[in-house]
Amino acid sequence: MTAEPKSSQFKSAASEALQNPRLQAAMKASGGLAVRRAAAIAEIPEFEAIRDAGRDLKNHTLANLDAYLLAFEEKALESGAKVHWAADAEEARAIILKIVGRHAKGPEGKARVNKGKSMISEEIGLNSALEAAGHHVLETDLGEYIIQLRGEPPSHIIAPAAHVSKPDVEADFRAAHTHLDPERTFPDAASLVHEARHVLREQYFGADVGITGANMLIAETGQGVIVTNEGNGDLSQILPDVHIAVASLEKVIPTLDDASTILRLLARSATGQSLSSYTTFYKGARRQGDLDGPKEMHFVLLDNGRSEMLAGEFREMLRCIRCGACMNNCPVYRAVGGHSYGWVYVGPMGSVLTPNFVGIKEGRHLPNASTFCGRCQEVCPVRIPLPGLMRKLREAEFEQKLSPQTARYGLGVWRWFAKRPALYHRMSSIGMRALNWLSGGHGRLKRLPFGGGWTAHRDFPAPAKRTFMAEWKARKAAKSQGDDQ
Ligand code: SF4
Repeated sequence: MTAEPKSSQFKSAASEALQNPRLQAAMKASGGLAVRRAAAIAEIPEFEAIRDAGRDLKNHTLANLDAYLLAFEEKALESGAKVHWAADAEEARAIILKIVGRHAKGPEGKARVNKGKSMISEEIGLNSALEAAGHHVLETDLGEYIIQLRGEPPSHIIAPAAHVSKPDVEADFRAAHTHLDPERTFPDAASLVHEARHVLREQYFGADVGITGANMLIAETGQGVIVTNEGNGDLSQILPDVHIAVASLEKVIPTLDDASTILRLLARSATGQSLSSYTTFYKGARRQGDLDGPKEMHFVLLDNGRSEMLAGEFREMLRCIRCGACMNNCPVYRAVGGHSYGWVYVGPMGSVLTPNFVGIKEGRHLPNASTFCGRCQEVCPVRIPLPGLMRKLREAEFEQKLSPQTARYGLGVWRWFAKRPALYHRMSSIGMRALNWLSGGHGRLKRLPFGGGWTAHRDFPAPAKRTFMAEWKARKAAKSQGDDQ
């Protein structure tokens, strides 16, 4: 079992999101990442070549994943780390709970656990498992801390609280930080960051266990790499006696040189920075003479469906480096926000990953939540063909008879006409003229027969007066007339 999915409720969740003015305002305010990405990549003319290199490097690693994972394990063991393999979320949780329980110093065997941001821990529902066992969990990434206070899942993979407005954060801090003077004001976002830093700093010391994710695992050296802008991941892994890094199998890459290729793509695509503020390479437990570092270090390597993806037609999705560029540039994600997707991974990448991880039945709406504008593929640093993968999932949905009866009937009717080209052209010509007439010459339709889902939130552009074929014929005829004269 993974974190509980609610993706089958996408349609109603998206409708609610579109009518939520606070969410809409927060989504508008968080739109700068796409602009920053565009500016950052414009600065380096070789960016397209680095994208090719990133794609090839990930393809090569995936083709030899078993060998690189074993090489990573060997090097990690040599450096004093322990390596655990988890086939699914349940096994990963059990491994982590056991380690945390062994090192708990609190009363009745309860531990204090500090966490850096980790989407894998969201995927396996780790926080609720730790809390159910009585441990105290603190998210130390600012966005994660905010949503932990709100009891919500993240709405973006790199900006988990992208859906939350500044007044909401202020209200959350006032409710949770009981030391706050009611007269204290927070004039800007920086003052809220300052308040969070003040509270979190006090909590770094005294944690029994630190849990982080890993942006990469390097087979050549047995190192993990963590990339953050707040330094919280470093403090979570260095200060407690025990560090657990939980990562999925596809995070492994062959060499340190390869890590530099991914780093050049990652920060630019994610936040428009040339490099994130903190990029930390960590390895093994504290050695004799080291001034700091955990006394015990564990890597938990999670499969949870990846082996199946590796062997199937969705392998390319495993190239994902979790930069978030696809969602920052997706008109659907920008309109409905991350929570509508109903599970850990959101936006275009979530529309492919979620049905693969939780099943097509549960995740079937997500590949349909796309205009197929192709922007996600255009910006993906490792050139994942996201629309093509979503199309495959739509096909699977159709084949498994999961799509609505009306859509299936509509496609059947369309197929019948498409097999009869003359009739097809005649009927589409009549249909276009009818829609054009319905638009009243305004070029837009406010209501569309059988298309209420589309026009409920936006107008439908009226089609041209005649079909492409008719236009083509007319222009050809006009041209040959001109040539004759
Ligand atoms: S699919 Fe591509 S753009 Fe989207 S998060 Fe993954 S790497 Fe980034």
